[in-house]
Amino acid sequence: MGDEIRTRFAPSPTGYMHIGNLRTALWTYLIAKKDPNGKFILRIEDTDQARQVEGATEIIYETLKQCGLKHDEGPDIGGPVGPYVQSDRMRVGIYLKYARDLVHRGGAHYCFCKEEDVEAQRQIANARGVAFKFNDPCRLIPWEEAEKRIEAGESFTVRQTIPATGTTSFNDEVFGTITVENSTLDDNILLKSDGFPTYNFANVIDDHMMGITDVVRGMEYLSSAPKYNLLYEAYGWEIPRYVHCPPVMKDEHHKLSKRNGDASFADLVAKGYLPEAILNYIAMLGWAPETDKEIYTLEEMVEAFNVKRISTSGAIFDIVKLTSINGIWLRNMDLDTYYELVKPWIEKAVTGGYDKKKIAEILQQRVNTLAEIPEMIDFFDTMPDYDLELYKNKKMKTDEAISLKALKAVRETLAGVTEWTQPVLHDTLMELPAKMEMKNGQILFPLRLAITGKQFTPGGGIEIADILGKDETLRRIDAAIARLS
Ligand code: GLU
Repeated sequence: MGDEIRTRFAPSPTGYMHIGNLRTALWTYLIAKKDPNGKFILRIEDTDQARQVEGATEIIYETLKQCGLKHDEGPDIGGPVGPYVQSDRMRVGIYLKYARDLVHRGGAHYCFCKEEDVEAQRQIANARGVAFKFNDPCRLIPWEEAEKRIEAGESFTVRQTIPATGTTSFNDEVFGTITVENSTLDDNILLKSDGFPTYNFANVIDDHMMGITDVVRGMEYLSSAPKYNLLYEAYGWEIPRYVHCPPVMKDEHHKLSKRNGDASFADLVAKGYLPEAILNYIAMLGWAPETDKEIYTLEEMVEAFNVKRISTSGAIFDIVKLTSINGIWLRNMDLDTYYELVKPWIEKAVTGGYDKKKIAEILQQRVNTLAEIPEMIDFFDTMPDYDLELYKNKKMKTDEAISLKALKAVRETLAGVTEWTQPVLHDTLMELPAKMEMKNGQILFPLRLAITGKQFTPGGGIEIADILGKDETLRRIDAAIARLS
């Protein structure tokens, strides 16, 4: 490892990928890729075995792949500093070895207290509303003596030895310098009695061993960062740069979370949002680009991203904004790529032999999410049961009588059309307003309503009539005339 930037995304495989996590992954990727030689590493943090969810690691791989956040090293592709899964690292004895070394350096000690007893004390204090700080009496046992007890089979944990006095400072790229009194920090467990490290320990060991230069993670770890610095100092290791990310919020007071039924990445994709648009939107949750440019590809984000413009306050996830960005992404796509994407959604609603590509084309200017599509075009297969009241339209200056008059004229004109194409339909129908002394809308709105049964449609009457074909268009107009007469 030279002097390149190395960042890591370190998710715990506990289920779906939530939006806050994905945003952290994205920023972590951007920070690495700003350096042409930068490496983005994937590490799986599975030391909390009780929280593991079957299949969760696959979701992580799948999400990163769908988003184009390609990692340079990780469990599935290997790399120079593996293993990349913490339980595998534990099995090869990494954490035990480093814990012992730390004890010998005075940064930690063996503890023979029962974890449950300490937890019980903490809960009693919590219930009383008083601060609890665990000063482990086992600190006083010399490590040589402790190791003899361990050899004799006694169960133990390793706890961090926090200095009783003084302060510890650390520097964060977003939050600045933060200083805490050591007297407020607990002698937390680093290695549990089952041999698993806690997050508090494993993150430091792994970040160091993996040569991580920039640690990017959620702000919930901010308050623990001083403890991690004490560990780095005890080992004499270089402290990485820290980038703690503000939370993604549902509203002013609540974090976005699956527990509250908030959408995960997979939910959003299922609802018809494009991974590119989701990334584009979430990049800006808590980060402000320097210009007001709003649409970014991943490469453009790498270029534009700047840690200095990350905000310290939480950003509210706004589905309306995401929807509008998604719509822009859809409209910017070339027709063929876009068509491949929307075809399955069109086929959900339209089974008749209509030209699906033409349907896709008229949708492109109006659709914001793919999931809206079936409902927007269901009239192709079946005319809905619509209310004749809809012919009364102030803006179009129509009512039932005007519509009937218009539809009769449209019917007669269209019956004479032999070449059923959009330009011919257009030219033929556009002769009518002048001839009938009516406004364009008074002709075209009743036509559109008569052949779709909907007040709002993707595409105008001419475009839709073109797709429906002559026979079906005339049949629908006849039915409307019959109902209006
Ligand atoms: N496994 C931790 C999490 O998923 C990662 C925190 C970190 O990136 O250091 O929250």
